[in-house]
Amino acid sequence: MLNRISVIIVLTTLVYIGCTSSPTYESQYNTIYETAHFSINYDECVFSLNEINSIAAKKERLFEYVNTTLNLTSDIKINTNLYSYGTEYEYVYNNSDGHMKAYKLRYYVMEDNGHEIAHVMIFSELGRSRNAFMAEGLAVYSELNLTNPNKIEEFINYNALYKQSGDNSTPLSRQILNNYFDYSYFGYCKAGAFLKYLSVNYGFENVKALYIKSITNESDSLGSYIESIFKKNIYVLEKDFFLHCFPDARYE
Ligand SMILES: [Zn+2]
Repeated sequence: MLNRISVIIVLTTLVYIGCTSSPTYESQYNTIYETAHFSINYDECVFSLNEINSIAAKKERLFEYVNTTLNLTSDIKINTNLYSYGTEYEYVYNNSDGHMKAYKLRYYVMEDNGHEIAHVMIFSELGRSRNAFMAEGLAVYSELNLTNPNKIEEFINYNALYKQSGDNSTPLSRQILNNYFDYSYFGYCKAGAFLKYLSVNYGFENVKALYIKSITNESDSLGSYIESIFKKNIYVLEKDFFLHCFPDARYE
């Protein structure tokens, strides 16, 4: 009896020491969890197996959602590292076009909406856009937001929360043609909402066609591609989008 208690105490102490010793980068992500499309390297001291099970299942659901939303048939494998970096956790997604890193808080890892997964799948299947608005807009368009799945609604609601009327932020035409993306939460919402608006009114294949143009062309030439794809220039589309979102506001 005493021996059993001693063994338990020793084992408990070992686990305790293992999980509280200051970890190095190399020793952090020491366990690999494989799914069909993800190889998740994680630190057992930071995430429990139960948490990894639900993270992995969610990642597969998000992967499927991005494929469906963007009409892709991607079957790539994404490497994800989950390890502590102070209070943050780092993802590293490897793909054929180099790799990308994103530092996210723990709650994001659990509440993942697929934004970074979408970036990797888009880079791999379509290519890397030279235009920040198109790159971020398409990733936002692909997010799975269970509480508010409609990007246009989300944009309108967010705008209503923080603005009296309408949208006074950087014009879409400037953001696209000058490659001057507004890296704020509002900016991300607006980019996703605009691409959703184009998709609903002109078909997703046309949004995809514009994205593909933005891979190899300079931003200032996108204006002519927009006009040839959507049969309207960017300024008219911007006004249409504005009036769709804020029918009671004045457009200036
Ligand atoms: Zn992004």
